[in-house]
Amino acid sequence: MVFLNGEFIPKNQASVSVMDRGFLFGDGVYEVIPVYSGQVFRLHEHLARLQNSLDAIQIQNPYSIDKYQHIFNELLSHSLDNNHSVYLQITRGTDTTRKHKFDELAPTVFIELNPLTPKTKPELEKGYCAITQPDFRWQRCDIKATSLLANIMYAQQAKQHRAEEVILHRDHIITEGATSNVFIIKNDTLFTHPTGQYILSGITRDLVIESAHHCGLNIQESISNIDEIFSADEVWISSSTREVMPITTIDSKLINNGKIGQHWSQVYDHYQSLKYAG
Ligand code: PLP
Repeated sequence: MVFLNGEFIPKNQASVSVMDRGFLFGDGVYEVIPVYSGQVFRLHEHLARLQNSLDAIQIQNPYSIDKYQHIFNELLSHSLDNNHSVYLQITRGTDTTRKHKFDELAPTVFIELNPLTPKTKPELEKGYCAITQPDFRWQRCDIKATSLLANIMYAQQAKQHRAEEVILHRDHIITEGATSNVFIIKNDTLFTHPTGQYILSGITRDLVIESAHHCGLNIQESISNIDEIFSADEVWISSSTREVMPITTIDSKLINNGKIGQHWSQVYDHYQSLKYAG
């Protein structure tokens, strides 16, 4: 069961026009929202970011917060899974001819649930590999746009290197991961790129900062050079589906001799407590 333009229908019956601007241009935005034990996690934060993305590309938000919550509840009532991620996509809608400029159209809204199985702490404690690459994306990475060609290219590179993530740097400054935010921990201080046009302002990023603060780390939302990552005490990535994940190898070099840091363990535990507090 999926939601498409006001209807709840089986996924194999859901289709959109070839003139949909999402299909033609990737002219749309999206959100991925975790649901733990039936509770949508940080709903308002995700919907606020959706609103920012829609505003940035001048699409009117078709629904209220209550309406989204109602749609999610309806989809959840048809699922047997315990944890989910909501995929919510809004494109500008179906046009009459293929042209870059646009008039106001009825947006296409597609929402589905996917099962979510976050990695367990023992799994995460094995540590994960990343590679680094220059950030060749555009300069509006704050918009959660469905046009993800750069991210797809990075994902394939990661796959070919058997890496979990690609850590990006713009003019040697670490920005974020191809699908996550990046944190460097050095001398009890957490460094992460400030919000703005060069990163997506992750909802999990905020929760990691909150957790790190709770665990006594100093927080520096400031830039770091890519070279600094190799001498970090700890490196983490975060996203709604991966939560907070320790990276122990970057470009085949071990971080902190490949050992998982104590800060990660504490922050992970605090993050879990936030999850279950709702
Ligand atoms: N940065 C990028 C480029 C992403 O694609 C994502 C998630 O998909 C994130 C950061 C993390 O965002 P969130 O924590 O809201 O999932």
